[in-house]
Amino acid sequence: MIDKNVMKEKICFRLKRHFGKELSEASEHDIYDAVSSTIMDYILDHWMDTRKAYERKAIKQAYYLSAEFLMGRAMGNNLVNMSMVNEVRDVLHDLGLDLNAVEDKEPDAGLGNGGLGRLAACFLDSLATLDLPGHGYGIRYKYGMFAQKIEKGYQVEYPDKWLDRRDPWSVKRVDDEVQVKFGGHVIVEREEDGRENFKRVDAEVIRAVPYDMPIVGYDTKTVNTLRLWEAEAVDGFDLQLFNDMQYTRAVEKSNMAEDISRVLYPNDSGPSGKALRLKQQYFFVSASLQDIVRSFKRSHKENFKEFPKYVAIQLNDTHPVVAIPELMRILMDWEKLGWEDAWAICTQTFAYTNHTILAEALEKWPIEMFNNLLPRIYQIVEEINRRFLDKLRFKYPQDYGKHHRMSIVADGMVKMAWLAIVGSHSVNGVAALHTQILKSKELKDWYEMYPEKFNNKTNGITQRRWLLKANPELATFLDKYVGISWKKDLAVIRSLNKYADDENVLNELMDIKHHKKAILAQHIKNKYNINIDPNSIFDIQIKRLHEYKRQLLNVLHIMYLYNKILDNPDFDLYPRTFIFGAKAASGYRRAKQIIKLINTVAYKINNDERVQGKIKVVFIENYRVSIAEKLFPAADVSEQISTAGKEASGTGNMKFMANGALTIGTLDGANIEILQEAGKDNAFIFGMTADQVHKIQDAGNYNPWDFCRKNTSLGKVISQLVDGMYNEGHREIFREIYDSLMYGIEGNAPDVYYILADFESYVKAQEQIDKSYRDKMKWARMSLANIAGCGKFSSDRTIKEYAKEIWDIAPVSVE
Ligand SMILES: *Cc1c(COP(=O)(O)O)cnc(C)c1O
Repeated sequence: MIDKNVMKEKICFRLKRHFGKELSEASEHDIYDAVSSTIMDYILDHWMDTRKAYERKAIKQAYYLSAEFLMGRAMGNNLVNMSMVNEVRDVLHDLGLDLNAVEDKEPDAGLGNGGLGRLAACFLDSLATLDLPGHGYGIRYKYGMFAQKIEKGYQVEYPDKWLDRRDPWSVKRVDDEVQVKFGGHVIVEREEDGRENFKRVDAEVIRAVPYDMPIVGYDTKTVNTLRLWEAEAVDGFDLQLFNDMQYTRAVEKSNMAEDISRVLYPNDSGPSGKALRLKQQYFFVSASLQDIVRSFKRSHKENFKEFPKYVAIQLNDTHPVVAIPELMRILMDWEKLGWEDAWAICTQTFAYTNHTILAEALEKWPIEMFNNLLPRIYQIVEEINRRFLDKLRFKYPQDYGKHHRMSIVADGMVKMAWLAIVGSHSVNGVAALHTQILKSKELKDWYEMYPEKFNNKTNGITQRRWLLKANPELATFLDKYVGISWKKDLAVIRSLNKYADDENVLNELMDIKHHKKAILAQHIKNKYNINIDPNSIFDIQIKRLHEYKRQLLNVLHIMYLYNKILDNPDFDLYPRTFIFGAKAASGYRRAKQIIKLINTVAYKINNDERVQGKIKVVFIENYRVSIAEKLFPAADVSEQISTAGKEASGTGNMKFMANGALTIGTLDGANIEILQEAGKDNAFIFGMTADQVHKIQDAGNYNPWDFCRKNTSLGKVISQLVDGMYNEGHREIFREIYDSLMYGIEGNAPDVYYILADFESYVKAQEQIDKSYRDKMKWARMSLANIAGCGKFSSDRTIKEYAKEIWDIAPVSVE
């Protein structure tokens, strides 16, 4: 095992080497860096062994292409997966240091917006833990997800300088850099044998430099790789201009090149439509494919027909879909394959995951922009489309509407989702309901054309980060009652059910919850100077701020309860602490207004003595993975209240469940499967079903005023948005929220997410929570049932399904 003295020496050597400091002079940041670099020493051998094992055994590998990886912090997670927490804690203790304080110095790698990016991170953890040869490819954004501050109740965005200091977890691999070309034009030369040779000339050339992060599996030697590309100029610095004292122009080129990997688009679903975004996509996709083809050739020579036998590529949403024509280009223009062969290879290699049913989120690019930036790729897309339309017309000769709807290039746009479906052998949704809706509504045409491609892979989360690391107290409890194997086989957690009537076990569980709530309460006291009572119900909604996720429904209910207390000081409400955490996309005005509303309501209620502490409302700033690890374990209630049919899956719901929170939710996304596993009596379900929502939508006669007339307390809450109660001095600040609910603005129907329609049912479900919590043993039993039911939602289960049903890859043991 690890020699603690050696580790101490390594840490002190690192401090000297990197910072020129003795231990006594080092800051906590320095120490974080030195400790992390030291942990890397213990990873490197296994990392190299893993790569060699994959090469030697000539096995099939999977590559997960994603514009986002929401990794969070590496240090604590790697220590957990390497089972080194205690050793390192002791070593640091001997040096007079506290492991938790050191861990807290690590900035989150926030290279993603939300669920989609965090899913990619959980998948990498599962791949490595299951000894599966699977790696990630993405972009090394210099600035990840923005840092959010709340100022006067409003969200203010600050740059996320996660690379301000060095990143001890990534290794720059200059030898593996590749070049990516943009713009210019295509010329065709005839070879002697008559073949056409396509050349890109006058293109802008960008260097793609890879940085590798180790993905350490739990309790195994397998260490896979997340390779992130950084953009650099080929010839960044113009000495001529510099000597002429034109300093800005001298670095212009290098700045323009670096722009490509400068910043993550903080855009959660919904397209950005920016040329730079398309540039980012092609940049990382082209670099990754060149890299994959290069390693294929190293191991398997040049027999490209074998490519799909050794390579599987998963496209995480449409962001990397330009990979399909890019692989065509590499195979045809560089490797000299014919169209038919190249196309067969592509469709056997690629698989596409759809993540959303929001129509506005389907990515498309103006032809002109696409063609200017990627002229050769556009030619290939046109040819893909031409051949596809031939088949389509053959199959549906008279259905011109269909031809138009399904054309990859139409209405002046290149439609990335259509390209993905045509160029892949697998199209999957991310929860049973989502896949069902794709087949029957959003992608109905496509399901009819290619039924064999469609399949479901319900999302999951890694229990290593979200239980073992985030909640070690609950992990110890599980070790005791279900045995230690749950860390690699979460299905065994079901056996917890045998303690459903064991009051000692139930009390122990509730003590752990209370402990985690007390820790969070302390954090909130320190950070926000708000006193919250760990004996109150912790009711938490943490996720991106989006209208379909309906944080507004949650706030309106809080306003409703507040009215009840003001009307009747004896109103018997079990004390409740409502906690929110959410970032809004910087250009999403309505979402930002909802953040302002939450904060305004919070301030008013928290400072009103008449409330007698029955309600507290806290908005946690800068919601991200590291704070999420404190929030999920402390939750009693998990708010999953999206309009039915809108949330593709959700994964926050699974993290709550695993930590024993009870769901208040709609029949949406994976909530439905969560209910099946936990038992429907162990959750609080309300609201319309997706079918009912679709019916109302189709009928087109929805009227929110009906609900205000029928339910006067709802009417009162709605009018309080604009009557001065929450906006003294600025009566109009919530006018837009009001108008969007009651009238519909900017060409939209009123209340498009049916908040008013579901309000009463939501209130009733909340009343059930109030009632159930008063019976401590009943609540504990329900909590236990949720934990016992979470086995299905391990990303290990999800990844095994991808590995078997889509990728056809098998575990490889690293000697
Ligand atoms: C899990 C997670 C999400 C996804 O949450 P949903 O409730 O599924 O939308 C978003 N952000 C972070 C930081 C997460 O950990």
